[in-house]
Amino acid sequence: MSKVVIANWKMNPQTLAEAEDLFQASSGAIVCPPFIYLEELSKIRSGVILGSQDISPEFSGEILRRLGVKYVIIGHSDRRWGLGESDEVVNQKLKLVLKHELAPVVCLGEKSRDRDFEKFLQSQTVATFAGLPVDEIQKCLIVYEPVWAISTSLGAQPDTPESALESIKIIKEVLSSNFYILNSNFLYGGSVTSANAKDFLSLDEISGVLVGQASLDREEFKKILGIAKNV
Ligand code: PEP
Repeated sequence: MSKVVIANWKMNPQTLAEAEDLFQASSGAIVCPPFIYLEELSKIRSGVILGSQDISPEFSGEILRRLGVKYVIIGHSDRRWGLGESDEVVNQKLKLVLKHELAPVVCLGEKSRDRDFEKFLQSQTVATFAGLPVDEIQKCLIVYEPVWAISTSLGAQPDTPESALESIKIIKEVLSSNFYILNSNFLYGGSVTSANAKDFLSLDEISGVLVGQASLDREEFKKILGIAKNV
């Protein structure tokens, strides 16, 4: 599998014209724009795969499918920590994504790397995937996104590849012992830029990156896509 690059635009950019421009410059990526742009962007043939930033019983998976959406982010820290989405809600959303035959992009990560972070990651992983069979979990792209490393724009610092691998190992062990999963695809997210993308993308254990702020700068994002192609 070649390396995956996912752009999470959050509530950006401000106009549809800018969104179309950025979308066309993001060929090769999975782009998750704000919902209001999905319909117009779905009409553009640009080599971009369309993703959604969320799903809910009120925002139909059927509509997402009709718009050509292939991937859905769930469990993002903005929703877990900003909107108070519990592991149970994330688990229900994960089941909804799978029911609609969309591909889940499941975010996991601790809020702070304190002495309890390992236990936190273990219990978040168990609760997030609860009740799912092996073949469904294997359809997920699992993003390790430490909350403290997110938001380059707010001055966050990325995790180091070594400590990201340590966390991925913890999640892998839970998936193996609790769910009998031996192979899964892990991505890293949190302040990825063209300056550090290679450090993560060159690792065998990391199948891709999820990019927030840097995906809104077309030249910067093109550099990240170039790195992903060439590692
Ligand atoms: C994100 O919002 O998921 C994210 C990773 O943002 P940033 O790259 O800006 O840290």
